Amino acid sequence: MTEPTLRDRLARLTLAQKVRLLTGADFWTLHPEPSIGLRRIVVSDGPAGVRGRTWDERDPSANVPSPTALAATWDEQRIERLGRLLAAEARRKGVDVLLAPTVNLHRTPYGGRHFECLSEDPVLTGRIGAAYVRGLQSEGVGATVKHFVANDSETQRHTVDVAVDERTLRELYLAPFETIVRDGGVWSVMAAYNGVNGHPMTESPLLRQILQEDWGFDGLTMTDWYAGRSLATAGAGLDLIMPGPRGPWGDALIAAVRAGEIDESLVDDKVLRLLQLAARVGALQGIPGTRAQPWTPEQIAAEIRATAAAGFVLARNEPVAGEQPLLPLDISRLRRVAVLGANAAVARTLGGGSATVFPPYTVSPLDGIRAALGPGVTVQYGRGGRTGARVPVADPALLRRPDGAPGTRIRFLAADGTEIGGEDRAGAAYTWMSSFGDIALTDAGMELAECRARELAHHDEGRPRNEVCPRSGLVTDSEGDPRPWPTFPSFTDVAAIEAVTRLHAPRAGRYLVGASGLGAFRLTVDGTVVADQHLGLPPGADFVEGLMRPPQILAPLDLAAGAHADIVVRHVPASAAGLGDATVASVTFQLNAKLDSDDDAEITEAVALAAGADLAVVVVGTTEEVESEGFDRTSLALPGRQDELVRRVAAANPATVVVVNSGAPVLLPWAAGLPAVLLTWFPGQEFGNALADVLTGATEPSGRLPVTWPADHHGLPTTTPVDGTLPYTEDLAIGYRWYDTAGRAPLFPFGHGLGYTTWEYLAAHPTHTGVTVHVRNTGARPGSETVQVYASKPHSTVTRPPRWLAAWTVVTAQPGDEAIAHIPLPARAFQHWADGTWRTEPGPFTLHIGHSSRELPLTVPLPEVVITTRRA
Ligand code: BGC
Repeated sequence: MTEPTLRDRLARLTLAQKVRLLTGADFWTLHPEPSIGLRRIVVSDGPAGVRGRTWDERDPSANVPSPTALAATWDEQRIERLGRLLAAEARRKGVDVLLAPTVNLHRTPYGGRHFECLSEDPVLTGRIGAAYVRGLQSEGVGATVKHFVANDSETQRHTVDVAVDERTLRELYLAPFETIVRDGGVWSVMAAYNGVNGHPMTESPLLRQILQEDWGFDGLTMTDWYAGRSLATAGAGLDLIMPGPRGPWGDALIAAVRAGEIDESLVDDKVLRLLQLAARVGALQGIPGTRAQPWTPEQIAAEIRATAAAGFVLARNEPVAGEQPLLPLDISRLRRVAVLGANAAVARTLGGGSATVFPPYTVSPLDGIRAALGPGVTVQYGRGGRTGARVPVADPALLRRPDGAPGTRIRFLAADGTEIGGEDRAGAAYTWMSSFGDIALTDAGMELAECRARELAHHDEGRPRNEVCPRSGLVTDSEGDPRPWPTFPSFTDVAAIEAVTRLHAPRAGRYLVGASGLGAFRLTVDGTVVADQHLGLPPGADFVEGLMRPPQILAPLDLAAGAHADIVVRHVPASAAGLGDATVASVTFQLNAKLDSDDDAEITEAVALAAGADLAVVVVGTTEEVESEGFDRTSLALPGRQDELVRRVAAANPATVVVVNSGAPVLLPWAAGLPAVLLTWFPGQEFGNALADVLTGATEPSGRLPVTWPADHHGLPTTTPVDGTLPYTEDLAIGYRWYDTAGRAPLFPFGHGLGYTTWEYLAAHPTHTGVTVHVRNTGARPGSETVQVYASKPHSTVTRPPRWLAAWTVVTAQPGDEAIAHIPLPARAFQHWADGTWRTEPGPFTLHIGHSSRELPLTVPLPEVVITTRRA
């Protein structure tokens, strides 16, 4: 028997069944439709791992390097392999569609989600993004390229209207999406929160005109979370409202179709696209999906470790005291090493916001360096001052639950204070989305759950409610009919949540204990209420800010070494303001604690450790407070007193390596005086091992900058809208395009990155498909080189940047050997957008070939005939 086609299946659905499919079932799943063999589809963030349906430590996920680090590899094969690793992770966690990659551009380093985007260059972004998508989808897991389009900053992201001219939009911001739709064959697109040129992206004509009609996209377009706010979105090329179960379509869309205001064929097209996605991910009965190859934890660790090192950019490596460059380290000369900086012990392996995953472990720089140097070298650690202003989530090692294990006990309380259920947690940060999941119920909780089940059955059978459960947890659906939540306990069943723990003081001192989140908080220490307050976000703040840097209450607690105190945080969640018409969408809070500290003393101690060591490694970086989804950065400076720490350590010990652990550029005002600067991004769970590999020379750092690293804030585009509009006044001149146009020197140019060998660019000549480049490894080690090809147009009549990246390839060679790079050049590299189409300006172009956007030893004229015979 042949399986029904997608159209056959569509034909079996009523209008109401069809429309139901077009709004999510909850935060992370779509509605199943058993009558046509459609099972539930699960989606998940993305992009630095696959979080799955829970947002906490209980269901860990492999944490791969963040996107800036991936783009810094410039290595498509590696990223495709990483996509396959992520597909295996997705399948392991029951996920069908990953909400990644993020391919908005690094318009400015102030952008809060810079770490989550690949590059400032559309060609690098497009090719690396397409490789990521190919890897995922080759194993049957859908990718969702996001956020379409011009969602390049966070300020007022739900409402801002980006004003950008058509040429800039086509050549820069749309270009990576085009590559990923056309060459990457992506199955799903996410429409952004923001507007472009007067239309919110979920209603924008660009969805149909460009995505579907120009590029022939046959996949599904979903909203960013809560971005679908009107029925008008149904008339645009949008197919799915996320999350659910509530949204602007539902009965309103059914009514609009019945009234003839919206054609049913539009609904059919959306359902077909959804069924197409279902077929591709194996969610339709009778259409087998591709099975992802599983990866062992060892394979995952090795791949993440190698990928992290491949994205590390060695920005400086100067000789110390007239000798060899500091890196790779000569371990035989090391007896004592000082590892310094807050991020050395608690590394940032990923950026904040929806990109968060919970890794099974992380290897800090300190752990990695200690393990690599072995027992023969004394490694000493000094934090050198705090980097954050907030008291962090309590380290579980300080906390004991009532059962004696590290962590906290959570109690879910009904309105009358009865405990209806609880859970033991290993961490001290809690987030539940849509529901509390399967919690262990008390007897009172079981009774209530049974009552709720009876109530639901009555409702679903259309019988009048014959009993009302206490704290009934009713939702009012769009027809005004009160319906009990299907899951118990729902957010409306729980009136308060308590986190219960005992804080053990390893050292004597003043501890700061507290709680953060949105809503009411009461903090009790040893039975005494020490703080009781309602916490809210500052006006205009994004709801993700409530996750990343929620407001906090604190109380001091003086403890002797070995003493303990019983802590209870009682939280009454605020309803999730700012989430459209959703009821309570997520509940999130933290228990915070730390030993109070003295920055002066810590910096002095760190400097003393450096002075007494053969080598100092200072790991500087950002925190979730300054670099995250939900808000933009207000300063590019390193937070806290890290600049002072570096300067004083370098003065105390000339053999100082600075490791920068940030997802986006930070200002490094001392860089010129330092022998070695290594940029490591947010490199994933194997950070410390990858770092040790690179420092010791076991692995060559092969990253090249995917973003210009500025020397100061001069000339960088702003993220602050004016009266709700963010004009992209710089047009095409972002990143290196601006620096080259303005003739200004950045700290480190786009494309820059040193390895452990040297290369000579010998010769290049054009071919029918591209350019062939000969390079020689002139150093003493095998190595790899990213051969970069930029184009320019002599005597152009069109406004252009002086040069733009056309293509690149990565070659490897043994010492003394020559490598030949054959680099295809796409027709698009020579086109610009004018009068509604792509055009090639007549006359020759020039190719500039070399090691970075500012180190281009080879120049090759490209005659017009070679360009015009190229495939469009
Ligand atoms: C982000 C998306 C993400 C979604 C679901 C939104 O806030 O902008 O990138 O996929 O949340 O977590």
